[in-house]
Amino acid sequence: MASKKIKVATPIVEMDGDEMTRVMWAMVKDKLLLPFLDMDIHYYDLHIKNRDTTDDKVTIEAAEATIKYGVAVKCATITANADRIREYDLKQMWKSPNGTIRAILGGTVFRAPILVKNIKPLISSWQHPIVIGRHAYGDVYDNVEMAVPGPGKAELTFTQADGGIETRTIKEFTGPGVIQGIHNTDESIRSFARACFTYACEEKIDLWFSTKDTISKTYDARFRDIFEEEFEANWNAKFQEAGIEYFFTLIDDAVARVVRSQGGMLWALKNYDGDVMSDMIATAYGSLAMMTSVLLSPKGYYEYEAAHGTVQKHYYKHLKGEKTSTNSMALIFAWSGGLRKRGELDETDDLITFADYLEQAAIETIESGTMTGDLLRVADPDPSNHKVSTEEFIDAIAERLSKKLEM
Ligand code: NAP
Ligand code: MG
Repeated sequence: MASKKIKVATPIVEMDGDEMTRVMWAMVKDKLLLPFLDMDIHYYDLHIKNRDTTDDKVTIEAAEATIKYGVAVKCATITANADRIREYDLKQMWKSPNGTIRAILGGTVFRAPILVKNIKPLISSWQHPIVIGRHAYGDVYDNVEMAVPGPGKAELTFTQADGGIETRTIKEFTGPGVIQGIHNTDESIRSFARACFTYACEEKIDLWFSTKDTISKTYDARFRDIFEEEFEANWNAKFQEAGIEYFFTLIDDAVARVVRSQGGMLWALKNYDGDVMSDMIATAYGSLAMMTSVLLSPKGYYEYEAAHGTVQKHYYKHLKGEKTSTNSMALIFAWSGGLRKRGELDETDDLITFADYLEQAAIETIESGTMTGDLLRVADPDPSNHKVSTEEFIDAIAERLSKKLEM
């Protein structure tokens, strides 16, 4: 073990979560971080029961702390639904914590696969990582919806600040149904565009953007137009210089092209498309746990998280005392990403090196053939005897990490 702990200069905001990811989160902290780091953690417990007890104030406080300190790391959390209300005896169906935090911080979520040599993507042409840039504001995540009980007229009305009114008929209902109102703002779309152009330029990769602008001729077309405007005004020359391309196409066409591609691009997607496509991409690269995810706020705040859920089925096994083999890679990379960013902002090289070592130790563990069940199904060569439990996997990483820090 390292004789002297590495100092983290600025407090880091930690958001704890639920179920199996909460179990792994504690192991990651105890075995991979606390033995080596001297850090001041500002802890927010987003466990569903604590969100309920605090009337969800804890989620808002966690987002506000992220604004104050700049870098947060977040475990996966349950989004309440009817089943969870019964399971945890909740006061109400609290909103998704990710939605609440993103509504406060704004920005874009970048998701990139974690590549290891012995796991080949299911799509054999993908030689390079496909990074997803997911707009993290508005649309269906900040919707207003209503059940329509029976016949009647649904209208969309906008009342201007100076009093003018514009109304459209949505539907003359002849029976029951549902309606939904969603929105976005030019400001948020523009900051999404800027974040994506910046990322593509820094990483020197092509940028693809896709929406359903043929059907949504005002809403989705606005996204297309703002990207185009922003590109022509500020990025065209920079892209030429970097030898990269900006390319807009219909989402259906993009999906087909991505599957046939060699990868190696940033694919910018609206909020819902990015949610769904990132799970598809992560799975095709091996497992939902083999993906990093970071929210980049236009104001310069960073929230590193796991893109997958709380792995509920594994948690129930764990509660019954059965052995689990759950992959902690995304949680480990949430911490390494947050610590590296903290090191960059504070200009502390030893912390940056620690983050690099932690990621190397995790990747080398899998490459040596020690892996959890999700990867075993896709590993090549098949490491037949090397399936390890949740804890054994983290222990194996800890052992490699200790050796690296001693050198
Ligand atoms: P999930 O937790 O992502 O798990 C779905 C399945 O994917 C699991 O049953 C497991 O497959 C596999 N999987 C996911 N992560 C894995 C890991 N780290 N290691 C090994 N296998 C992994 O999704 P869910 O079961 O639909 O959702 C559970 C809860 O998570 C829900 O309450 C939801 O609201 C919440 N959620 C939170 C977030 C977030 O906070 N970021 C995101 C999505 C969902 P097998 O069972 O086949 O092994
Ligand atoms: Mg999702």
